Amino acid sequence: MSSSSYTVINPADESVVSVVEHVDLAGTDDAIARAVDAQKKWARLAPAARAGALRDFAAAVDADIETLAGLETRNSGHPIGQARWEAGHVRDVLNYYSASPERLFGTQIPVAGGLDVTFHEPLGVVGVITPWNFPMTIAAWGFVPALAAGNAVLLKPAEWTPLTSIRLGELGLEAGLPEGLFQVLPGRGSVVGNRFVTHEAVRKVVFTGSTAVGKQIMAGCADQVKRVTLELGGKSANIVFDDSDLEKAAATAPYSVFDNAGQDCCARSRILVQESVYERFMELLEPAVKGVKVGDPTDEATEMGPLVSAAHHAAVSDYVPADAPVAFRGTAPTGPGFWFAPTVLLPASGTDRTVTDEIFGPVVTVQRFKDEAEGVRMANDTEYGLSGSIWTRDVSRALRVSRAIESGNLSVNSHSSVRYSTPFGGFKQSGLGRELGPDAPLAFTDTKNVFISVEELS
Ligand code: NAD
Repeated sequence: MSSSSYTVINPADESVVSVVEHVDLAGTDDAIARAVDAQKKWARLAPAARAGALRDFAAAVDADIETLAGLETRNSGHPIGQARWEAGHVRDVLNYYSASPERLFGTQIPVAGGLDVTFHEPLGVVGVITPWNFPMTIAAWGFVPALAAGNAVLLKPAEWTPLTSIRLGELGLEAGLPEGLFQVLPGRGSVVGNRFVTHEAVRKVVFTGSTAVGKQIMAGCADQVKRVTLELGGKSANIVFDDSDLEKAAATAPYSVFDNAGQDCCARSRILVQESVYERFMELLEPAVKGVKVGDPTDEATEMGPLVSAAHHAAVSDYVPADAPVAFRGTAPTGPGFWFAPTVLLPASGTDRTVTDEIFGPVVTVQRFKDEAEGVRMANDTEYGLSGSIWTRDVSRALRVSRAIESGNLSVNSHSSVRYSTPFGGFKQSGLGRELGPDAPLAFTDTKNVFISVEELS
């Protein structure tokens, strides 16, 4: 089944956590064949039975939160409190979509000569490919609504962070999901992930990851007109107007970009501050940045852990050379581990690569703007459009700017991006399609229209 393996390293201390066997091409094809069989049986089950199976899965995740959270902390360096939240979120997503099998309503459309109804038919086998930054939650956003809509799912976790996905696969089986219905296939993107794209029996690919790989996946899926959802990169703005609650805006800004060590597609990694309050905002931001508790992710008080790997640490460090325009930095442990202190940069121009590139680390730029029009223009001056925050006490401005920003997920006077009950996804090169929210299962179906002729009494 396997021709290679990956050694998982704890990013907080560089110790070996475990060795994970990689599934090869033949193993992937076998898994796809099993999924095809399992899906047919799953779709035939009564809707209430599928709903019950998802609730049992949710209960199994709930009973396993400590194990899942511990695995994520060791594998990905997530602070333990955050990792517990992520495991609880998987349970919540399962419970939320367990209501869907019994509520996938079609419509009845008035037509002449008979009855016209629509059905939301499952697609078949769905391949979900996840990145390493939020392994559990992002997997759940794909596999849960797909299962709820009657599909089988193959989940390929990122090479660096497979452990919680593997555990979720075990929990699904322990909870009674049919064999083959939900399989986790650790392996390489170019082998397992690419096979989801090329294999005809996989009818949809849900990809979360970099924009560069997302474009390749979209091009590959075109060959079979395969359905695809893409959740890609971001470079979101946190826009602070002069009429905002500056204390609150400054106190929360570090967490909107340094949470998960900045390895967050929704990170507000560009702070845009109105000129008239710039000096005061920076005075308030400095203690907030220095106050972020960076350290041992197993410590309950820790707010930010290490970067995920040595390679990623090198990539992030490249953006902060010795002569970088650093305004101030927070603290980070020294010694083993891939540590990087929260860093605030004052780029010389809007074309600097620290402003244009998704750094995906705890690095934020701060720029000034004159008025609303310039703030909006700067916020939109990016190929991405995933998230963003707007700080103002003026309701009209909040609405005007929300409508003007080309982004899929905005928050006013807060930094919230993701709730399982609301839709999530990107504008422009941040993605295609939406996950979460009440309609997510529909993205794993095709609509079938059926007309039944009714004979009139003569
Ligand atoms: P990545 O694109 O390198 O890898 C993502 C996944 O794709 C991995 O599982 C990888 O093995 C697989 N893959 C790589 N090459 C492949 C190929 N040719 N065919 C099929 N699969 C392939 O991304 P990453 O470095 O793991 O994650 C970071 C990126 O993810 C960032 O750009 C981030 O913004 C993005 N992201 C987006 C969202 C969102 O919801 N929009 C959420 C989290 C992360």
